[in-house]
Amino acid sequence: MSFSLKNDVVVPGEIVAQQEEFVEGEGVYVDQETGFLRSAFLGKIAIDLNNKMISVNTHKKLKLPKKNSIVLCSVSSVKENIIFVDIFGVIVLYPRPKWEHEFSSPLSGAILSNQIGVDKYNDLTEIVKPGDIILAKVISSTNPFNLSLKGPQFGVIYSMCSKCGEVMTPINNDQLKCPKCGNVEKRKISNLATSKLLKIDMKKTIMIPP
Ligand SMILES: [Zn+2]
Repeated sequence: MSFSLKNDVVVPGEIVAQQEEFVEGEGVYVDQETGFLRSAFLGKIAIDLNNKMISVNTHKKLKLPKKNSIVLCSVSSVKENIIFVDIFGVIVLYPRPKWEHEFSSPLSGAILSNQIGVDKYNDLTEIVKPGDIILAKVISSTNPFNLSLKGPQFGVIYSMCSKCGEVMTPINNDQLKCPKCGNVEKRKISNLATSKLLKIDMKKTIMIPP
């Protein structure tokens, strides 16, 4: 069974093919319920017959994080089994941390409790708290983006004291201490939190030296 297209311009959500016909390229996602490939954007269809890949090209191309991208986020809320974040942009870590690109407005992301990479914790607020700046890895390339904290470089890189608002200092890989009031809090801390190559100021402007 094949699927024919009446028009080569598609709108977001429009069916562009069936899963058995093509693999999804940029701007196309799999509708898991039906097996259809749908467009993520308003744009034109592009078919690569050699690779049996279908894509949608937009005029104003929105750069989105790809699977395995490393993203910088702020934690917006922490629920029982899920952490919601705002994704600021994609960074590359090596050979030194720098922006790959920043988004004009933050994208939504979520981290499920099975993507934390910590064996024992009582609840997710021991991993991150709202307002923390974190590094995470993208594990799904469609909106809303699923992220993972598995791996030593992922976790909190900037956090403020819940009691007095001072920026806290990591004392090991799961604890931060407030230099002002001495309060100690649990987190999953990125091993880059103490890196001098990656700095964040009090206004939460992320500064990564060139
Ligand atoms: Zn404090």
